[in-house]
Amino acid sequence: MTDSLLQSKVPQGAIGDKWDNYKADMKLVNPNNKRKFKVIVVGSGLAGASAAATMAELGYDVEVFTFHDSPRRAHSIAAQGGINAAKNYRGDGDSVHRLFYDTVKGGDFRSRESNVHRLAQVSLNIIDQMVAQGVPFAREYGGMLDTRSFGGSQLQRTFYARGQTGQQLLLGAYQQLARQIGLGTVKLWNRVELVDTVLVDGRCAGIVTRDLVTGEVRSHAAHATVMCTGGYGNAFFLSTNAMNCNVTAAWRAHRKGAYFANPCYTQIHPTCIPQADDTQSKLTLMSESLRNDGRVWVPLNAGDERPAAQIPEAERDYYLERLYPSFGNLAPRDISSRAAKRAVDSGRGVGPLKNGVNLDFKDAIARLGADIVKERYGNLFEMYERITGENPYAEPMRIYPASHYTMGGLWVDYELMTTIPGLYAAGEANFSDHGANRLGASALMQGLADGYFVLPYTIGNYLAPMLGKSIPGVDHPEFKAAEQAAHRRFQGFLDIGGTRSPDHFHRELGKIIWDYCGMERTEEGLNKALSELPALYEEFKTDLRVTGDGASVNQTLEKAGRVEDFFELGMVMCRDALERRESCGAHFRAEYQDAEGEAQRNDEDFAHVAAWEYTGDPMQSVRHKEELEFETIHLAKRSYK
Ligand SMILES: Cc1cc2nc3c(=O)[nH]c(=O)nc-3n(C[C@H](O)[C@H](O)[C@H](O)COP(=O)(O)OP(=O)(O)OC[C@H]3O[C@@H](n4cnc5c(N)ncnc54)[C@H](O)[C@@H]3O)c2cc1C
Repeated sequence: MTDSLLQSKVPQGAIGDKWDNYKADMKLVNPNNKRKFKVIVVGSGLAGASAAATMAELGYDVEVFTFHDSPRRAHSIAAQGGINAAKNYRGDGDSVHRLFYDTVKGGDFRSRESNVHRLAQVSLNIIDQMVAQGVPFAREYGGMLDTRSFGGSQLQRTFYARGQTGQQLLLGAYQQLARQIGLGTVKLWNRVELVDTVLVDGRCAGIVTRDLVTGEVRSHAAHATVMCTGGYGNAFFLSTNAMNCNVTAAWRAHRKGAYFANPCYTQIHPTCIPQADDTQSKLTLMSESLRNDGRVWVPLNAGDERPAAQIPEAERDYYLERLYPSFGNLAPRDISSRAAKRAVDSGRGVGPLKNGVNLDFKDAIARLGADIVKERYGNLFEMYERITGENPYAEPMRIYPASHYTMGGLWVDYELMTTIPGLYAAGEANFSDHGANRLGASALMQGLADGYFVLPYTIGNYLAPMLGKSIPGVDHPEFKAAEQAAHRRFQGFLDIGGTRSPDHFHRELGKIIWDYCGMERTEEGLNKALSELPALYEEFKTDLRVTGDGASVNQTLEKAGRVEDFFELGMVMCRDALERRESCGAHFRAEYQDAEGEAQRNDEDFAHVAAWEYTGDPMQSVRHKEELEFETIHLAKRSYK
């Protein structure tokens, strides 16, 4: 049964009418009254920039916070391959329903139908919005917007700007944000980190921040607060995320009462450059778009040491094409990642450490010519060559799965509100739309859907009844208490005086999570992680060394706070993975697989969202359920064969 706090507020009506019904019934704020409401937006990536710019354009008084020096540095800038939309420009049979269906199926039937349908509906608006802003999407010869395929779909619905789609989209959203900053409707706080969320009388009253240059701790009050703070993929230490991505904002809200949903749903992306040595601190993505033309293979026989060019066709295993003929190299990420792991585990890995598989463009170059391949993927090929010293036009790229995206996040209802009234979450920071596995090119779509087309409506529904009522100011005792707690916490890190850096602990913690809560999980491994993590956390608390002081730029001190939050999250991730006794999407429990090694869901017991409540000790967090109801799409075994 669904827990009473997890009411999803899904509107009445047929699936295709729900969003229209919501908008027809929601409360409105008069344009002249909007400026009386202050809205805090934490994060300036695609979700944050679009939400802040749109709400400011509507007339709200908006403040934006980012720990970067410029909003343009948000991790969204790194997105490469593209953004989905059900435009059907290709005439290949796409529709809102198909995008909805593909996304629910791609997430292995573990997402809320109503949210996903709305996402598919507003995907149409996103492309128009971004084109109107001048985003230079790729175009066909005739001038129409070009599209390509991404995993988990048999259509070409992915719009792109070479391998720099996130960059171009963020520049578009940032332009609009900058316009509002210029108009004075948005106040930007940069190089400032959220360190706490403040509740007064059960609603979110604002946030507490720490200035990363001066160390100043300061409170900010608002009528409503929106977390657009990205995902937690860096919990694994090695990931494709920007180095600064972290869970702190979401976790600090979680500690104050926002439930954290499905933390064990983490996406391991199949096409990343394999790790080169043990000291590496970052992994690089090679976009999924490359699988439109690249063919994935390993030698047929284990231990084959020959260079790729010397291995004849008959001695190659194009395993994705063999196992999943309908989707081939564009099988979804969870499935492709596991297949790559199995190939490497069977001794057929390639490269100096035998820890990769081939992504080969030989056939595409022969068919299309090197110029066309360069036009489509040139910047990715260049990036690959710079990192590996190998020329992917002449020999296959080597790729291997790596942590990339997190489907879990703050639990939100249909309005994107967390379990704390007045606190919202959007973009990768919430859990909302991707179930147990996100399809490629759907994160940018979701971030922009949330920011441009959902929040600006739903937030008004919350604010309208607050008109004329005063809100607590920053002199309220709850703000003062949170400021003091923040001071104590950061001073506490400085005072430990131990011997090991935050980075050391992050690496060790990430390894435990990767080994036991990564691509494959078992009850035994998860229990091991749950005994090792608290022990390592104790060492962190007594042996951490943070140099410098708290009153000037101190990245080691910043990192200490972020690593501490990763420790707590890591424990809840493993507990979530342990409790979910089934395999679904990216959550693969080795005990639950069919004869062909595919994920075996248990719909009877686990067709629900798991949302965790903080109790003061992450090992004692309480698991709540939101039952998922499938009224439009029938639960079925997910197959890409
Ligand atoms: C290499 C790579 C390529 C990708 N390519 C694609 C793609 O082609 N298509 C696709 O759909 N998706 C892609 N993704 C996923 C996609 O980029 C992200 O999911 C998406 O950009 C997240 O956007 P966001 O706005 O939610 O968060 P982000 O862009 O991560 O922004 C987070 C913001 O929050 C701020 N912030 C965080 N914590 C705090 C704090 N405590 N205090 C103050 N500010 C804070 C940061 O400063 C930042 O401004 C890719 C991901 C990676 C890693």
